[in-house]
Amino acid sequence: MARTKYIFVTGGVLSSVGKGITTASIGLLMKARGYTVTAIKIDPYINVDAGTMNPYMHGEVFVTEDGGETDLDLGHYERFLNVNLSKKNNITTGQVYLAVIERERRGDYLGQTVQVIPHVTNEIKRRIREVAEETGADIVLVEVGGTVGDIEGLPFLEAIRQMRIEEGFENTLFVHVALVPVLSTTGEQKTKPVQHSVQELRRIGIQPDVIIARSVRPLEEEARSKIALYANLPPEAVFSNPDVEVIYEVPLVLEEQGLGAYIERRLGLEPRKPDLDAWRDFVRRVKEASKPVRIAMVGKYTKLKDSYLSIIEAIRHAAAELGVKPILNWYEATDIERGRLDPSRVVEENDAVIVLPGFGARGAEGKIAAIRAAREANKPFLGICFGMQLAVVEFARNVVGLEDANSTEIDPHTPHPVVDLLESQRGIKYLGGTMRLGAYPIKLVRGTLVHRLYGSDVVAERHRHRYEVNPRYLDKLESAGLRVSGVSFDGRVEFIELPDHRFFVGSQPHPEFKSRPMNPSPPFRGLLEAALAAGGS
Ligand code: GLN
Repeated sequence: MARTKYIFVTGGVLSSVGKGITTASIGLLMKARGYTVTAIKIDPYINVDAGTMNPYMHGEVFVTEDGGETDLDLGHYERFLNVNLSKKNNITTGQVYLAVIERERRGDYLGQTVQVIPHVTNEIKRRIREVAEETGADIVLVEVGGTVGDIEGLPFLEAIRQMRIEEGFENTLFVHVALVPVLSTTGEQKTKPVQHSVQELRRIGIQPDVIIARSVRPLEEEARSKIALYANLPPEAVFSNPDVEVIYEVPLVLEEQGLGAYIERRLGLEPRKPDLDAWRDFVRRVKEASKPVRIAMVGKYTKLKDSYLSIIEAIRHAAAELGVKPILNWYEATDIERGRLDPSRVVEENDAVIVLPGFGARGAEGKIAAIRAAREANKPFLGICFGMQLAVVEFARNVVGLEDANSTEIDPHTPHPVVDLLESQRGIKYLGGTMRLGAYPIKLVRGTLVHRLYGSDVVAERHRHRYEVNPRYLDKLESAGLRVSGVSFDGRVEFIELPDHRFFVGSQPHPEFKSRPMNPSPPFRGLLEAALAAGGS
């Protein structure tokens, strides 16, 4: 294609209305027309990346192949577009200012007053265009996080406003996603908040080209014409994005209304028929699956399900392939720890148990108790990252007989540090971006369950951890029956399993990050298969 086309997505009224999924869906509609697509998420907060934020506030930290700790929307983009993105696809205020201030200290701006316009806005545009150049994508989606009117978002909106002039009208498109609330007393769809957010956008100098109205039910005609009128747009530029049963339906709902064709026209692209057959088929399988499989999700941030978003999606992908309907039952590890919840109940109420990733001592003993119950009941079990490390602790204590064995993350003075800090982590002063991060190749051991699941001698999965299985204890663990099924090229334990168990797998990396709608992650598929084979519900 002659020139990169940019689609900028802004949000209005409220955040968390599904702007990320809408962005990913637009990307899919263009990809289905044969274009190469990439997507950038802009997060206007001052953190350099999402790695230092509590998942309670921000949801999951999504790890990219190249080790970026990014916003969970990158997970949506990767899953919808079936591409691997780079950490460069997540731009934050922290990164932008860090770069500008470093440049100022080097003397690159000598003699100048360094200002938001042009220095900060230039850096924002440079970063967006760098992704465009490095990926060579035909279409670059840029989602600006937060809502129009947020103070932190202003430099980014100014930058994209400038990009319209610099890239040209035909090469840029502004999509505004905004909530249309319903008044519970009358059931009426209220468009005033959208009108205000469009006004705010125009005050900044951006006239939206497309409005996507998020609402519980499909947008009524009256609401559509009202929005169009106030937004200075034809009614066919206003699209409805109602609540759907599964998020993967959103692209289909938008395509049905002609969004893809509208974008083609507006960007001067030839009309093409999108190939969405495989996607439709996937959505149908998700919706039709009826055989329930109950999965215990044991973790510490269970009140905000977004903390484990990629794991939930990985389960959905595996379930769709197997034609089962996953029922996720959430258990707070601290409840088990404090005796408020019996770990045997967690096992009895479910067909499989997942112990989720996590950090720190709180809740760890609860997770260990759940692991023990799953192991002793021969219940299919998958431990991810911290969940795997605690499975090793549990085995060391209760099978090998190493009293008070622990991870030094939980008990720095344990007599048996079966999980210990990575050598490379000692003496680290900066906590941001310093874990073992990103994809590393793993050698799988032939004859193991994990090898069979992946069907491959070498796989690459993504990591995010500081601790690992202590190699000094491997002999003891292995002679008691624990099997190491995967090691990194520098000899670190990556996967463990118990051959005497129906399905007991621990994964140091996070396989959930690479699971895709039509290509489920092998450990998740394996867990669900085992749960089904064990009788299901
Ligand atoms: N807290 C553990 C570590 O740092 C596990 C991290 C995780 O589960 N992502 O190694």
